[in-house]
Order: sequence, then structure tokens, then C-alpha cells
Amino acid sequence: MPKKKKPKKKGSKKYAKYRIESGKLIKPKFCPRCGEGVILAISKDRIHCGKCHYTEFSSKSEAKAEEVKESKEVKSEKKK
Ligand SMILES: [Zn+2]
Repeated sequence: MPKKKKPKKKGSKKYAKYRIESGKLIKPKFCPRCGEGVILAISKDRIHCGKCHYTEFSSKSEAKAEEVKESKEVKSEKKK
């Protein structure tokens, strides 16, 4: 059997969330429920934990939060 080339794993790229600025380590936002290590996904106006589905709205004006379009996140995942 010929070996098939495995596609590169995308991974979560957690390392990309860490930055060092002027000698200080800038950590990403962690989930308050899951604790350190679980990085929250930062959306335009909210942060979301993919593990426990914790969602925190970071928008300054709450009125705008109601206008958030959910359609973007609802992508139909079709399994082949
Ligand atoms: Zn969480």
C-alpha cells in the first residue's frame, strides 16, 4: 500500500495567542469556568468557550448586542 500524504493538521494554534511584549507575557483570555488553558474564542463582540459553551459579551453597548446576527455562526455542517 502506497503511503498517502497526510494533510497538515490545523490544530488550535494556541501558541499564536501568546505574545511577548516588552518582556511581559501577554496571555489570551481564559475561560472562567474551565480555568487556565482553555482559551476563549474571541468574536467581534463576544467571547465564547468551545468547551463549556460559556459566552461573554464584550460589546460596550448592550443595545447593539441584540442586533448580533446569529446567521454567521449557524453554518450547516454536512457530513459526507
Ligand atoms: Zn469553558
